[in-house]
Amino acid sequence: MVRGFGLVAGGVLLGGLADLGTARDAGADSGPTVYTRADWGAQPPRRAGRILDHRPDHIVVHHTATPNVTDYSMEQAFALSRAIQRYHMHHNGWNDTGQQFTISRGGIVMEGRDNTLPAVRAGRHLLGAHVAGHNSHTVGIENEGDYMSATPPDTLLEALTHTCAWLCLRYGLDPGRAIVGHRDFNATNCPGDRLYGALPRLREDTAALLAALRQQLIHNDRSVPGFPDIPEENIPSYPDAPVGEVAVEYHHGPV
Ligand SMILES: [Zn+2]
Repeated sequence: MVRGFGLVAGGVLLGGLADLGTARDAGADSGPTVYTRADWGAQPPRRAGRILDHRPDHIVVHHTATPNVTDYSMEQAFALSRAIQRYHMHHNGWNDTGQQFTISRGGIVMEGRDNTLPAVRAGRHLLGAHVAGHNSHTVGIENEGDYMSATPPDTLLEALTHTCAWLCLRYGLDPGRAIVGHRDFNATNCPGDRLYGALPRLREDTAALLAALRQQLIHNDRSVPGFPDIPEENIPSYPDAPVGEVAVEYHHGPV
């Protein structure tokens, strides 16, 4: 369901990046296809999601610790989002579902907490409730399944990679530093040993996809997801140094 990217498991970019965006719906939001709260049938929040006047600095990877279902349908994914929201609102007593994004095992990416997509489009942080003590600066992604001993499916990892690349592009984040697991902040098993073990590859794959997107931005390629809404300071003004180039501090002229 993630359209517009040419990435496969293992981080190999297929078919060049000319395909980026070609399958996107006209007028659709940037990045992976993200199904909205209206799509999955969210209840109204008790209070509107609060957009803060700064960007997040980390992306926190969670697992839902729910069964590793083999039903990868959209209906199942939407039911998952509704179930998480019910639990967070009626068991935990929260204003709304806690996390900003939810991804099903089938790779269906869904908006979580109210006002998440408007916040991302504005380059601002939507205050969530997913990681104790660090909600003011972290975006939470709930990944369906229990990954203490099971391996996350490629469909999930690919969608997670696309989502992370999109968020890094929008927020100007370095995947190597920004992507962490819930256990990096709180005493928890989340996101499970196997998904946590997949984070180094997730960082590498996200960085590769992000680099490809940035190269397209240099060439004003309007098929890049999010163009032209990417904040100007996140767009590189010159290409990466060619392979073999001497790395020195950059000056625009003699000093
Ligand atoms: Zn967690």
